[in-house]
Amino acid sequence: MRIIVQKFGGTSVATSEGREKCRRRVTESIEQGYRPVVVVSAMGRKGQPYATDTLLDLAGDLVGERELDLLMSCGEIISAVVFCRTLREEGYPCVALTGGQAGIITDSSHTNARILRVVPERLHRELADGKIVVVAGFQGMTADGEITTLGRGGSDTTAAALAAALKAELAEIYTDVDGVMTADPRLVPEAQVLTRVSYQEIMEMAHLGAKVIHPRAVEIAMEGQIPLAVKGLDGQGNGTLIGSYHTVTADRVVTGITHLKGLAQFILRFNDEDLSLVVFQRLGNAQISIDLIQVNPGLIAFTVLQSAAEKARNVLGDLPMEVEVRSGFAKVSAVGGGMRGVPGVMARVVAALNRVGVRIHQTADSHTNISCLVEESDAEKAVRALHDEFNARAK
Ligand code: ASP
Ligand code: MG
Repeated sequence: MRIIVQKFGGTSVATSEGREKCRRRVTESIEQGYRPVVVVSAMGRKGQPYATDTLLDLAGDLVGERELDLLMSCGEIISAVVFCRTLREEGYPCVALTGGQAGIITDSSHTNARILRVVPERLHRELADGKIVVVAGFQGMTADGEITTLGRGGSDTTAAALAAALKAELAEIYTDVDGVMTADPRLVPEAQVLTRVSYQEIMEMAHLGAKVIHPRAVEIAMEGQIPLAVKGLDGQGNGTLIGSYHTVTADRVVTGITHLKGLAQFILRFNDEDLSLVVFQRLGNAQISIDLIQVNPGLIAFTVLQSAAEKARNVLGDLPMEVEVRSGFAKVSAVGGGMRGVPGVMARVVAALNRVGVRIHQTADSHTNISCLVEESDAEKAVRALHDEFNARAK
C-alpha cells in the first residue's frame, strides 16, 4: 500500500472553497495510486469561531494546562469532522479520528507534549477498510488516556509522526505560501521557492526564524527518512522537497536568509574571579534559554528573548560584575549546507552588511550557518543585503 500523508493548515480548511481545494488534493493523490491519510489544523485564525487562539480566549486565567489541552484539542477535532463531511459529499468513504484514536502517544507535558510513539494499528485497519483517514492534528494522548497538545504549530508534527509510523512514501504540508522561500518574501520581493532543501538546512532555517514548517516535524521526518513536501494549496508547482542530504546537491553556498526579532543582548564584564560557571548555572536554574553565547576571559556575551531580559538581569543582579543589557536586536542568518569548509563566506557576509551600513554586534556560526546580531531596525536591510550577495535562488 502506497501511503501519503497530506496536512492542511487552518486557513486552508476554514472555508468551503478552501476545503474543496483540499479535497481535490486528496482525490488527486488517490488517482495517483496513493492511500491518503489527512491531517488538519483548527479552522481559521484568531477571531474565527473554532481557531486555536479563539478557543484560548475562552479559557481565561483560571483554566489549568490540562483543561487547556482539552479545550484546544477541540479545534482540530471539529476540523477533522467538517473535512470528513467535505469528503463524504463527493462519496468518499472516510473516518475522523482524534490524535489519541490515531495512536499518537505523548508524554504528559500539557500544552507542549512530545510524541513518544505512534501505535498505527487503528490507522492500518481503517485504511484496509478502504477509508480515507482524517486525523485531528496538534494532539495526542498520554499512556493513561489524558489528552495533550503538541505546542503551537504542532499539526505539522502530527503529519510527520504519522508518516513515519506508517512508512508513508511522502508527507505533504500544504500552506498559504508556495513552499520554503529563500527569504521572507515580504522583505525580499525577489525571494524564490526552493526546489530542494536538506533536512538539516530546513531545521536550521526553522530554528532561525523561517516560519514555514515546525522544526520538530522535520526532526521526526528525518529520523524516519520520510520526504516532506511543502506546497501552496493554490500553487501549480511542486513546492519544496525536503529530503536526506544525499539527495540534495550542495552546489550552493547559501540556501536561505532568515531573521528573528525581539532579542536582548547581555554583556557581562568582570575582573577577578571567573564568573562564567555561576552565570550559566543561574540562568539555567531560572529556565532562561540563551543564545549567541560568547565566553572570553573577563567577558561574557549572550542574547535572550526580550521577554526574558528582566528576569535574566534579576538572577545575575548581585554578582560582582558589570551587567550591560541592550534591547532591540535581531538575529539575521545565512543558512546553507554548502558553506561547510568553504573559505571566504564570512568575508562576503561582512562585505554585504558593510555596503548597506549595517553594524554587526555579535556573531555565531555552525557548519551550516552564520548568524549576525544586528539592530532590529536594520534587520530588513540586512536580510536584503545578504540575499543579494549570495543570490539565494531555487535549485
Ligand atoms: N492549531 C494549532 C496552532 O495554531 C496547531 C497548528 O495549526 O499546527 O498552533
Ligand atoms: Mg502551521
